[in-house]
Amino acid sequence: MKVLVINCGSSSLKYQLIDSESEKALAVGLCERIGIDGRLNHTPAGGEKVVINETMDTHETAIKLVLEALTDNNHGVIKSLDEIGAVGHRVVHGGEKFASSTVITDEVIKGIEECNDLAPLHNPANLIGINACKSLMPNVPMVAVFDTAFHQTMPAKAYLYGIPYEYYEKYKIRRYGFHGTSHSYVATRAIDMVGLDKDNSKIVVCHLGNGASVTAVLNGKSVDTSMGLTPLEGLIMGTRSGSIDPAIIEFIANKENKSIEEVMNILNKKSGVLGLSGVSSDFRDLENAATGGNERAKLATEVFAYRVARYIGSYVAAMNGVDAIAFTAGLGENDKNIRASVSSYLGFLGITIDYEKNNIRGKESIVSTEDSKVKVCVIPTNEELAIARETVALI
Ligand code: ADP
Repeated sequence: MKVLVINCGSSSLKYQLIDSESEKALAVGLCERIGIDGRLNHTPAGGEKVVINETMDTHETAIKLVLEALTDNNHGVIKSLDEIGAVGHRVVHGGEKFASSTVITDEVIKGIEECNDLAPLHNPANLIGINACKSLMPNVPMVAVFDTAFHQTMPAKAYLYGIPYEYYEKYKIRRYGFHGTSHSYVATRAIDMVGLDKDNSKIVVCHLGNGASVTAVLNGKSVDTSMGLTPLEGLIMGTRSGSIDPAIIEFIANKENKSIEEVMNILNKKSGVLGLSGVSSDFRDLENAATGGNERAKLATEVFAYRVARYIGSYVAAMNGVDAIAFTAGLGENDKNIRASVSSYLGFLGITIDYEKNNIRGKESIVSTEDSKVKVCVIPTNEELAIARETVALI
């Protein structure tokens, strides 16, 4: 079956058409600047990227253009839309309502709307994508795959915050966690690669991209994760602060005469390694700057790696052990220095990195030595494939 996977943001839309039998992407693409002007980058498998500049005033227009590109005589990959058997939608927040992926019905759409409060930037955009596909392909079954669903197995001791319980009851303030599709995909691959029995396995997955999170996966289930009610908690990220003393918010607001919204904007967009280094949120820039002698760039990278190592240590405690640590996403897959630097804190677990094996990029591989007690894996994430698999499984 051919599955169209849609990841809809507020002004962008990423898509892949995946053949579920071969598990290969037939085409990948990105619509940008929706509602501003509009640009569609479409790449058929094995072909050249095509850039289509056409006005996209709404997401529906964008999806219409995507469907045209997929069926185009020159750069299309299917003859007619009838070949699309299902659509899988990435949805950011499923709250406590959705503990797994689900076939989209009117009731499910209402349920996703009810979670808008928890992800006001993301869920409404995801819904726009769902509604646009529904009106353009009314007879094609659709599935919602939630970023939060994998973490719904966390026990209360991991998801509750130390604040009045009534806020959990009234507003559902708790840890939800994100990147769930990636953590689940990577943990499953790690279990296979290392040859573990899923029901007797302890994996820590480090999803280190621009947004970054660490998850403890015990017997294939998420039992703790570093992101919280929102994706701001946990690791230091590209531009996000990660966990800080909550009192800092009031402190900055008073000192700098700023509103809470302004301080939150700083914590989301101007902090992390960008804020620390004053150079960039991109680790490639940081490494270049550090090589050129920029001390703050070097420091930002150190602070980042130290925090990752601390989370890993705490999750080893949460699971009372660990069999494998898996690195994924832009940085985890590509940056050997970060992997080595994080692993250097973990010698007490019997971890040793094989520096030659670690000298790889974007390839599934075990990078620890043969006799390392805990295996260290590099596993490129593939959220789109995971969404396609879930979609096929459900319909
Ligand atoms: P997101 O999907 O959260 O936007 P990504 O998973 O694409 O983020 O990760 C982006 C990060 O990965 C950036 O900090 C970037 O520097 C880093 N990255 C990507 N490629 C490389 C590379 N070849 N070497 C080092 N870091 C890389």
